[in-house]
Amino acid sequence: MPTRRDDCLFCSIARQGAYVHQAKGFVAINDINPQAPVHILVLPEHHVDTFRDVAEFEAKETKRMLEFVAETAAKVGLTDYRVVVNVGATAGQTVFHLHWHILGGGPASREDVPAAVAIAEANE
Ligand code: AMP
Ligand code: ZN
Repeated sequence: MPTRRDDCLFCSIARQGAYVHQAKGFVAINDINPQAPVHILVLPEHHVDTFRDVAEFEAKETKRMLEFVAETAAKVGLTDYRVVVNVGATAGQTVFHLHWHILGGGPASREDVPAAVAIAEANE
């Protein structure tokens, strides 16, 4: 299985681009269509289509990827933020190269009440 695809937008960005943060095997870029005041995408250089295929990464690569997400958020000054991965077209995935959204810098779009608590209160 090749770790890079010639026809993949994020493979090409991972090879060359303007990065918010970069480390061996990973890059972080600003999202072209931000959904929050800070909206960054973390891309592994190693191509897999979706998070479903994350087992194709070596264990140390997976660990490093998660660390790189946290490092990137810290580097841009975020302490509170959301990390989102859309998995599959009907879940909103539009680019089929695994990537992690880091969203921060503003209020969350939903009330900050855990769903289970909200349901428990509704049943009282
Ligand atoms: P997803 O919908 O989860 O697959 O996320 C793909 C993201 O890539 C979207 O938020 C797009 O705005 C973003 N995007 C698409 N093309 C580019 C690009 N050339 N540079 C930066 N972000 C991009
Ligand atoms: Zn790719």
